[in-house]
Amino acid sequence: MQDTAGKNDYEVEPLDQNSGVCSCCGSETRLVWGFVHTPESTIASFHVQWTAGAGLDRHPANYDLIIGPWGEGASPADRVAVSLLHFENEDGPGVMVIDADARASANSDLADSAFDRESVAGTEVAATAFAIFDAVYLQDPRIYG
Ligand SMILES: [Zn+2]
Repeated sequence: MQDTAGKNDYEVEPLDQNSGVCSCCGSETRLVWGFVHTPESTIASFHVQWTAGAGLDRHPANYDLIIGPWGEGASPADRVAVSLLHFENEDGPGVMVIDADARASANSDLADSAFDRESVAGTEVAATAFAIFDAVYLQDPRIYG
């Protein structure tokens, strides 16, 4: 585990989960969701979907994040949808930004705008999204379990 100098003081709150069947191979798909908090406030929700037993090389996992303030006084106009893909290829595992507007979370009422890959890459939003990914992946015991 890498320690990035206090960068990640996010706390993950697991909420509910769901499962389904992969349309391509019949394996079980799993969906878990929850919130990510800083000591001060809630900064994102996450939905993680993967295919059980298939491996990230065959079935990359989707991380659909809604980043921004939650709770009283916050509205969907304050939040953006950002989607990440956790994949594996011959170089090993990696994480990349994908177009959020193709994902179901972007078509929900939770965020007014969905970021595509082009507009997120290299921005502060991307850095936040990767930090959230680290927190969720490390802290949510359900993931890939
Ligand atoms: Zn499949």
